[in-house]
Amino acid sequence: MFDKFQDECGVFGIFGHPEASNLTYLGLYALQHRGQESCGIVSSDGGNLHAHRGMGLVADVFRDESLFSRLCGSSSIGHVRYSTAGTSDLKNVQPIMVDYLRGSIAVAHNGNLVNAQEVRNELELSGSIFSTTSDTEVLVHLLARVQADSLAERVSEVLKVVRGAYSLVFLTETRLVAVRDPNGFRPLVLGKLDGAYVFASESCAFDLIEAEFIREVEPGEMIVISKDGLQSYHPFGKVTPTPCVFEHIYFARPDSIIFGRQVYGVRKEFGRVLAREFAVDADVVIPIPDSGVPAAIGYAEESGIPFQLGLIRNHYVGRTFIEPQQSIRHFGVKIKLNPVREVIEGKRVVVVDDSIVRGTTARKIIKMVRAAGAREIHMRISSPPTSFPCYYGIDTPTRKELISSSHTVEEINRYITSDSLGYLSLEGLREAVGDPSIGGGHFCDACFSGYYPVKFPRLKADSQLGLF
Ligand code: AMP
Repeated sequence: MFDKFQDECGVFGIFGHPEASNLTYLGLYALQHRGQESCGIVSSDGGNLHAHRGMGLVADVFRDESLFSRLCGSSSIGHVRYSTAGTSDLKNVQPIMVDYLRGSIAVAHNGNLVNAQEVRNELELSGSIFSTTSDTEVLVHLLARVQADSLAERVSEVLKVVRGAYSLVFLTETRLVAVRDPNGFRPLVLGKLDGAYVFASESCAFDLIEAEFIREVEPGEMIVISKDGLQSYHPFGKVTPTPCVFEHIYFARPDSIIFGRQVYGVRKEFGRVLAREFAVDADVVIPIPDSGVPAAIGYAEESGIPFQLGLIRNHYVGRTFIEPQQSIRHFGVKIKLNPVREVIEGKRVVVVDDSIVRGTTARKIIKMVRAAGAREIHMRISSPPTSFPCYYGIDTPTRKELISSSHTVEEINRYITSDSLGYLSLEGLREAVGDPSIGGGHFCDACFSGYYPVKFPRLKADSQLGLF
């Protein structure tokens, strides 16, 4: 049985650089927002693969400098992972690395394969023994079985069996393969550093290592790098691309360029459209940091209401924070955010965030802002109501837990205790994000519209996910 929910992940790869594993470490550092639970690096010295993986943040797992001499060689791939629902387990840490008839191969995956359970069932029936609960493992089992001569052919054969969202990097002793699914759900960018090719989930990783951004890997494109250079293939039939709009709303870093646009500007545009759709008389616009900041700036610019920092974030709250059991319980959001009374007291406040999932964050923050003396609180959300789970790699809870799937906006407004609540409309979202530059497709907005561009089997697991 696979993980119930998808992983949020980041991938990185570099081929042909003497400091490959060090640069991968830095790249993962820049991608840490895409996954904080575990991480790993696999390097190749041309003859063997070397791995180090562990639970925790990049800085914790790669604390020991001597690791980098062990992760020797001029090519490497890396992964950061975040998964929910119980299987936060060392065995699921990526890159997955295996030895098989043709040598060694490692793979790092961002996304989610929607028919992985089905494929796994078949593989198990024919004798495969799985060692992880991750959907990604089916890829290496399939790779061990396909007969084609070249690595490019073998990888494309394998990827014709699976469906869903994948931005992948594979590493063998002598090759690096980067591939994006035909819909292009997850981002993947190509760059160059000192003559070496580099791949990353987001361009912010290139900025840190001072790599030159070349272009995005195209949806459905497979790039193979070897000592002979770069070769590009399009092994799949043409599909209209549907990159994930939630990357622009919440997931990607605002300084990254993905799907043809810098995330920061797109988020500001969401705020601008939101201000036109849900105008209100107010004294101040404040973001919920950090996720609401660019949209709040856009809302303030469009409405002419001043932008202020009304909530200050403590940046040092780690994932391991343990709440004291007795006297001072229920810190909740208070440990992370504190209101600035001077900004809020006696004011009509517009509070901007990117999304409401279960509604608990908004409810707590509104209580906090009210306690700091706000006269009115108008909650504005820079995306439509999140009513449907994601099956393509964003971690969302079951439908039951998504407050918008069973409550109207007015009911949510009452629950979170705001004076008014406005969500960006689906049309407004589509207008603000524009068409992706690649192939004239449109974004996947299944989490808002319920329209899933890649179908999945009606498995028992899906009904547990609350879809059927
Ligand atoms: P909730 O309290 O469940 O309504 O969560 C809302 C908060 O979670 C918002 O501030 C969002 O920025 C953030 N958020 C939205 N989607 C995700 C996600 N997939 N993973 C982690 N946080 C998220």
